[in-house]
Amino acid sequence: MACLDSFNRSISYLRVSVTDRCNLRCVYCMPPEGVPWVPHENILRYEEIVRVVRVGAEMGITKVRLTGGEPLVRAGIASLVAMIAAIPGVDDLAMTTNGILLAQYADELAKAGLHRVNVSLDTLRPERFRAITRLGSLEDVERGLVAARAAGLEPVKVNTVLMRGVNDDEVVDFARRTLQEPFHVRFIEEMPVGIAAATRFLPVAEARERIEAAFGPLEAAHHRMGNGPASYYRIPGARGTIGFISAVSEHFCHQCNRLRLTADGRLRPCLLSDAEIPLREALRSGVSDEELKQIILAAVAAKPDGHHLGEGVAVSGRGMSQIGG
Ligand code: SAM
Ligand code: SF4
Repeated sequence: MACLDSFNRSISYLRVSVTDRCNLRCVYCMPPEGVPWVPHENILRYEEIVRVVRVGAEMGITKVRLTGGEPLVRAGIASLVAMIAAIPGVDDLAMTTNGILLAQYADELAKAGLHRVNVSLDTLRPERFRAITRLGSLEDVERGLVAARAAGLEPVKVNTVLMRGVNDDEVVDFARRTLQEPFHVRFIEEMPVGIAAATRFLPVAEARERIEAAFGPLEAAHHRMGNGPASYYRIPGARGTIGFISAVSEHFCHQCNRLRLTADGRLRPCLLSDAEIPLREALRSGVSDEELKQIILAAVAAKPDGHHLGEGVAVSGRGMSQIGG
């Protein structure tokens, strides 16, 4: 059964934030001192998340992504993966992680039923990595990438947020990495959410121009790379691929198929709109599956037609780590 919103888009993808906590403090996502964490009792328990996913799957959700905050800092995350992997109808189960703890967990996650991971990595230079994330070590993420591939969590995609004056001089280096290894990089435009800075904004079209100036025209590469908002290309003959996600410059709201569940149990119809539908209280007051479906349907119905960032409208409210980017 497909679940259609008011604009006839089929909603089949649920992004679940499992925690608002994180072991990094990326400059575009969190202030150096962090943000006040949501108290434990207000974070959805695993059984509560599983119930929402199960009911969602009955309504047509087929794809689930675990995110955060940093999903790997939540204790017992592999047990959540196993519970979701066992839900009939969920045929794509993925995770977005900063990769710091991935080497430690990759095998366990794969055995629990995780299909693949996206690893966020904005630079290939160790000192710069420390400057952007404020806490992390590039070496850990590189080990995580190797471990994820070895565990079969493939394709391992690398998410790179473009920041003018911060990492835009590495666009060609990232592209070069795709030549010899199964490195699948996706360049993402920095979105004006939370503490992100418009002054760093770099359109993906500019990244592509720089890559083509270095390696010649890219060729289209659709195979196995997913049906999300990225367009995928390849340097002819390369093992890896290069994706571009033009979330701001050229939005793809007309094909949006997703709903978000925040760590504190709210359904968020759109990343770029502050509207949220509370679910936690209902879950904790004996709501029936049927009533739960009605709440999910209300969130689907509340999906706006699109965002208006191109018209200078910014989003206030919660940051990415709190919403589940
Ligand atoms: N901690 C995990 C990680 O970093 O992969 C998962 C959560 S993080 C909020 C999810 C993704 O959102 C990361 O790839 C991060 O780079 C991206 N992100 C955070 N703030 C962003 C912004 N303002 N614009 C674009 N992407 C952003
Ligand atoms: Fe943490 Fe991910 Fe935000 Fe970086 S982008 S601070 S890793 S939640």
